[in-house]
Amino acid sequence: MNVLIVFAHPEPQSLNAALRDVAVAQLRADGHEVQVSDLYAQGWKAVVDRDDFPKLDPRERLTVAAASAGAYFGGTLTADVKAEQDKLLWADAVIFQFPLWWFSMPAILKGWFERVYALGFAYGVGEHSETRWGDRYGEGTMAGKRAMLVVTAGGWPEHYGPRAINGPIDDLLFPINHGTLHYPGFDVLPAHLVYSTTGMDAARFEVEAARLRARMRNLATDAPIAYRKQNFGDYRIPEMQLREGLEAPGDVGFALHIRKD
Ligand code: FAD
Repeated sequence: MNVLIVFAHPEPQSLNAALRDVAVAQLRADGHEVQVSDLYAQGWKAVVDRDDFPKLDPRERLTVAAASAGAYFGGTLTADVKAEQDKLLWADAVIFQFPLWWFSMPAILKGWFERVYALGFAYGVGEHSETRWGDRYGEGTMAGKRAMLVVTAGGWPEHYGPRAINGPIDDLLFPINHGTLHYPGFDVLPAHLVYSTTGMDAARFEVEAARLRARMRNLATDAPIAYRKQNFGDYRIPEMQLREGLEAPGDVGFALHIRKD
């Protein structure tokens, strides 16, 4: 497979960087082609602004979605954005690796999604009508590709359990896994979490490295999260409501959107 790792940590000697190197080595040993987008090392521009749309008339009000569509379809996206889109199109699997910062991804990675996911590329894809609200949630440009988060967290595993004060980790990651990865069509694998990073020593690092190698070996075969697809009958369109009676007993909130059959 072609594997892209989008990596967001500012320190080359960090735990994250060491784990990234473990992942890259395992993937290459297994015969995969690997590219890494190291966002801090690349000096990635983290915010969307007028500079992203050099062809926009300076007198025109900036409407990001419209400018994004204009630049995408007009072929005037900036070179850095275009290069990341090309890597996504090249990849069969994409790994997003980052430390959990304020219960989400670092701003530089959020900005990567905001800039790389142009209108027409990652959203606004396909027919939009009263009966079909675009190719999204399981369909779209990334359909057929796999995606997976590799996340380190200072907190303990128990701190992210079903009754934990932080909230369950699957809920915290739902906006990324479902809203950002499944939305443009990715099959999303369960995230790989490395907890309790503060007390990490060399012995524990070896345990974590072995766990990560195992996930990398199974990247092509692990079952994705069974997110429901938008256009295959589970939802009323255009209301975007899950049809009554499809949920498993007790399911509410995010859990409604994962098939249990
Ligand atoms: P590092 O700081 O680089 O390393 C962690 C430990 O691993 C160090 O002790 C290091 O010596 C050791 N280590 C062992 N082996 C190696 C090796 N081979 N290479 C490098 N280091 C090694 N945590 C939460 O749980 N929830 C949050 O919401 C959250 N928000 C945060 C917000 C901010 C702004 C910050 C700065 C931290 C936050 N944290 C949070 C903690 C954060 O998730 C962890 O600090 C981070 O995941 C640790 O990863 P790192 O790569 O930065 O580790």
